[in-house]
Amino acid sequence: MRWGLIGASTIAAEHMIGAIRASGGQIATVMSSDADRAASYAAAHDIDAGVTDLHAAMDGVAAVYISTTNEKHMAQAMAAIEAGKHVLCEKPLAMSVADAVTMVKAADAAGVTFGTNHHLRNAGSHLAIRELIETGRIGDVLSVRVFHAVHLPPHLQGWRIDNPDAGGGVIPDITVHDADTVRFHLDEDPVEVVAMKTARGMGQGVEDSAMSVWSMPSGAMVQTHESFTHAHAGTGIEVHGTEGSIIARNVMTQQPTGDVMLRFDGGEQAVEYSDHSLYERAVGLFAKACAGEARPAADGVDGVKSLAVAAAVSEAAEKGQRVTVDYGGI
Ligand code: NDP
Repeated sequence: MRWGLIGASTIAAEHMIGAIRASGGQIATVMSSDADRAASYAAAHDIDAGVTDLHAAMDGVAAVYISTTNEKHMAQAMAAIEAGKHVLCEKPLAMSVADAVTMVKAADAAGVTFGTNHHLRNAGSHLAIRELIETGRIGDVLSVRVFHAVHLPPHLQGWRIDNPDAGGGVIPDITVHDADTVRFHLDEDPVEVVAMKTARGMGQGVEDSAMSVWSMPSGAMVQTHESFTHAHAGTGIEVHGTEGSIIARNVMTQQPTGDVMLRFDGGEQAVEYSDHSLYERAVGLFAKACAGEARPAADGVDGVKSLAVAAAVSEAAEKGQRVTVDYGGI
């Protein structure tokens, strides 16, 4: 499949160009808002053409991967959908749940495939955790704790830490991933959230840390911590059930790494999992979905729902109130 890249981004350079090529895709174009950058990015990554015009970026391609800053996703996705292109869009899908719903409904109406690039549900570790939960190994889930406090690397300390208009802040950046991961594991959608946020040295005009608690329809409780400022915390997820607990360390990451352990009455057991690339699996499933042979790992509805949870966390932290998650009618 021939792809166009909308956005000369770091995530494309570090992960997605390789993943698209590994899944058999060819990258025909890259679009940047700056002509010199478009040309240098195309040359650096062996892409046929670097362009500044969105329609030129879509010329002769079947699919686009959108990885511009967040405020640009909606208009670019709508143009691609209108042009009949399949769309793999970065998270958060848009700046509002209503915009994300519009994008997903437009893709449905146009009959194109729409995916959201939530990488974590593609990890071997998370697939193994989900299977343990699904097969009843820990009984009924009582609670989930997500540890996703990292230190934002210097080369990413741009719009994320000082530009709310571009979608900066740790909640749009990381809470969306945690929302998707928890939904993936529990197969249900958060109902209500309470939250607090702060900025402790990195965020300027946006939060660099957030903590929240979510209620789930089953009665399970979820606790999450996201941050840009924690150099030594490590990441993880714990899922506690009536018959056992899953303790996973360093699995909230872009790499296929970390440890998963099952703890039960009889003791503890290390859980084996596949170490395939998260992004290659995501792109491979998306390409199959475009051919009508699979569904994307995370589709448009998943992208709307992860954004809806993050938006509720943001609102709850802003108002100091419990907020019901509004999924925009989807
Ligand atoms: P970047 O800051 O690297 O890229 C975003 C935009 O910034 C680019 O489209 C580009 O604009 C501009 N830009 C990038 N580098 C430079 C530079 N050196 N000089 C000038 N302009 C530059 O963002 P990320 O790649 O970190 O994030 C992009 C999107 O991907 C976001 O929506 C983010 O949330 C998402 N993301 C998702 C991840 C995942 O695992 N799913 C991980 C990381 C990010 P232009 O195209 O106009 O040149």
